[in-house]
Amino acid sequence: MIGIFGGTFDPVHYGHLRAALELKELFELEHVRLIPCAQPVHRDSPMTTAVQRLEMLQLVTKNQTDLIVDAQELQRAGGSYTFDTLTALRLNYPDVTLLFFVGSDAFNKFTTWFRWQELFDLAHIVVITRPNAELKPLNEFFKMRLTNDKQILKEEFSGRLFFQQITQLAISATAIRGMIAARQNPRFLLPDAVIDYIYQNQLYF
Ligand code: ATP
Repeated sequence: MIGIFGGTFDPVHYGHLRAALELKELFELEHVRLIPCAQPVHRDSPMTTAVQRLEMLQLVTKNQTDLIVDAQELQRAGGSYTFDTLTALRLNYPDVTLLFFVGSDAFNKFTTWFRWQELFDLAHIVVITRPNAELKPLNEFFKMRLTNDKQILKEEFSGRLFFQQITQLAISATAIRGMIAARQNPRFLLPDAVIDYIYQNQLYF
């Protein structure tokens, strides 16, 4: 089983990294692919270039096999559609269970995503929840696919909806960008190598 964790990663921080590692262990995944999006379809454009966001991810993942950076969305022209990303991964991994992780906020808008129903033909969708997250009631399409049995996820390559609670550190990229702009020290919220990169490239000032 392979996990797919998309995001803007502007910049990558310990909230992302701990969540990805926890998910890898919870679902006994071969690895989690961190996939930075090119132009976010669902939010404003990031302040940094795509290459800078990618380089920060590469810095923190370079000596390990649990978390892998996948730059495919940056290599594709145009917007980042999960449908394209999962289609490409499915071609590369025809016989592997794919778990696509999505935050509960994003999941609340899932039915507006490009070809959202077909995403279930490509992967299982795993919604990452926080203890007091508010979720909209599930529609019939989702209800039919819902399972709370991890074994079923392993036995099928795609098609199920699963909710997984994980530890959420109170860290956000927005807050980190704000701290740097305000000349506060962001140390211990993100890896030192990323902080060094931010200062060297004068990002977020
Ligand atoms: P921003 O503050 O710029 O919106 P962010 O820190 O929320 O950024 P994203 O790159 O938008 O980061 O998020 C990518 C994924 O990481 C999303 O699925 C999001 O839910 C998840 N995520 C972000 N912060 C945390 C955190 N502290 N703990 C666990 N998951 C997180």
